[in-house]
Amino acid sequence: MTIIRPFRPTLRVAADAEIIVVGSGMAGLVTALRLAPRNVALLTKTPSLTGGSTAWAQGGIAAAVGADDSPQDHAADTMVAGAGLNDPSAVDLLTRDGAARLRELIASGAPFDRDAAGEILLGREAAHGQRRIVHAGGDATGRHVHRWLADAVAETPSIDVQTSAFAWQLVVKNDRVCGILAYHAQGGWTLHRAPSVVLATGGSGQLFQRTTNPVESTADGLAMAARAGVELADLEFVQFHPTALVDATAADGAPMPLLTEALRGEGATLVDSARRRFMVDEHPDAELAPRDVVARAIWQRLVDGKGAFLDMRAIMAGAAAAHFPTVQALCRDAGFDPAREVIPVAPAAHYHMGGVAADDSGRTSLDGLWVCGEAAATGVHGANRLASNSLLEGLVFGHRVADDIAAKTLPSSAAPEITLPDIPGAGAVDAIAGLTGRLRALMYEKVGLRRDGSVLHEALRDHANLAGRISELEHQKGQNPPSFDDVRRWGELRNLALAGGLVTLAASRRRESRGAHNRIDFPQPVSANGVRQFLTVEDLGELVSDREGRRDDASIATALSA
Ligand SMILES: Cc1cc2nc3c(=O)[nH]c(=O)nc-3n(C[C@H](O)[C@H](O)[C@H](O)COP(=O)(O)OP(=O)(O)OC[C@H]3O[C@@H](n4cnc5c(N)ncnc54)[C@H](O)[C@@H]3O)c2cc1C
Repeated sequence: MTIIRPFRPTLRVAADAEIIVVGSGMAGLVTALRLAPRNVALLTKTPSLTGGSTAWAQGGIAAAVGADDSPQDHAADTMVAGAGLNDPSAVDLLTRDGAARLRELIASGAPFDRDAAGEILLGREAAHGQRRIVHAGGDATGRHVHRWLADAVAETPSIDVQTSAFAWQLVVKNDRVCGILAYHAQGGWTLHRAPSVVLATGGSGQLFQRTTNPVESTADGLAMAARAGVELADLEFVQFHPTALVDATAADGAPMPLLTEALRGEGATLVDSARRRFMVDEHPDAELAPRDVVARAIWQRLVDGKGAFLDMRAIMAGAAAAHFPTVQALCRDAGFDPAREVIPVAPAAHYHMGGVAADDSGRTSLDGLWVCGEAAATGVHGANRLASNSLLEGLVFGHRVADDIAAKTLPSSAAPEITLPDIPGAGAVDAIAGLTGRLRALMYEKVGLRRDGSVLHEALRDHANLAGRISELEHQKGQNPPSFDDVRRWGELRNLALAGGLVTLAASRRRESRGAHNRIDFPQPVSANGVRQFLTVEDLGELVSDREGRRDDASIATALSA
């Protein structure tokens, strides 16, 4: 007779670090480099450092480095895009520090594009009053800058890079963070101890069925912080990129190729199936109107069955085509020739303005925890991010977080007893994929570009049901040690589900339209200056933790009105 013994996970303890940085995008790499020679453990969930959105960035980095530009002008454009919700002092930091940090990066040899005389080339993007976009490799800025930073990290002995390491939860004792519990492909459950932890885990685009974000953008940092009771902000503000390429053959969950804003800056137009240019009817700036205006106009054409296409034939048939090698390759891969035909587009979730609430130094409401990059909500973006301000945010706030940590001497504290989580076995793979798909469809359809109170209410109920289904799976524990993929897949679903519930709750509570948050039932802003919305996981009440997933209207109403 074969006796099947339940698998008992074990925990190993990693060597102590001074600082743990989770994430190897722009924000994480900049933070780790700036902290040298302090001893940093840099954890990232992918097998190399290239996971996350940074390597995908196309247009570039915005900063007032041109002769005719100023941080004040950049700040003014940022505030207009942010629709009255930006924190002016954070914007001032972003644009002033930003120009200085970008000049330092240029001076240190980062591979930005230059003209024949060696001057840095400056591009123009929608809603920027000046040419202020510094780029690399034409439209492959993220890839070039990321590689340059990753090479610098590899040459820095004080940074201990740990790849294929999935950060699972913050370890907290006596109201301060003292480490991270992670699952490693080599080594399993591992406790990392350090008195300072930085979340640089990127955004949450995978919450939505249509997204430009890579598969790593699963709101992990946001959910980890939420579970630890950390304050969150601006969660309802999700920017949809208007022009993601619609590739009917792409797999579910695959990031949609982005057709950069810079194309419209160079003269590409938006047309419907009848080849009628429709943005001229929508906004005085036509195709260069703010992102949310363009995205909603495209969305409406698609809902009305009129189709939406980007016409970049004039660019791609001429000399300017050389500036867009990535776009040409993306179109070719999807079977289109952008020099000869118009390209079908749809809005896709692109950037989360909301995240873990952070002050000017990236500090959160939990002692010992900092956050930077897209995972953070510092108030710089307000209700809508100005294009190319996010790589800049990672650069500026990565520095500020590092400098704040370096100025402190924090005591190490012993970690509490840790209960290792149960992980559903390989048999649950299909169920996890099914629930992830349902969640993403729910978010795109009901919490997407146009929102309505009664639909959001329905969405909250759907979240409660999904949460019940997810917690049922928890009991389908595997017999063997889980694989790295099992843990990551399951962890990401839990994180997306929690983040989705929180975004939906925040969207239902903001009873106005502002920036990227558009309510059909409240079409106007309440006032010129908006009020930022802060919440914690407690605001969700029992909504997403209910094992049965059954919630009546009264309990949903309580959660909504709390
Ligand atoms: C297609 C596209 C084009 C863009 N173009 C531009 C542009 O031109 N200009 C601009 O300013 N912005 C652009 N953006 C936005 C910008 O790229 C991102 O906002 C920015 O790169 C975010 O950087 P980050 O360091 O915060 O996060 P990311 O670069 O997303 O990195 C997050 C990191 O965290 C790791 N991670 C996440 N969860 C875990 C976990 N649980 N455990 C361990 N590791 C984890 C990931 O593997 C990754 O290394 C674009 C985004 C996309 C998707």
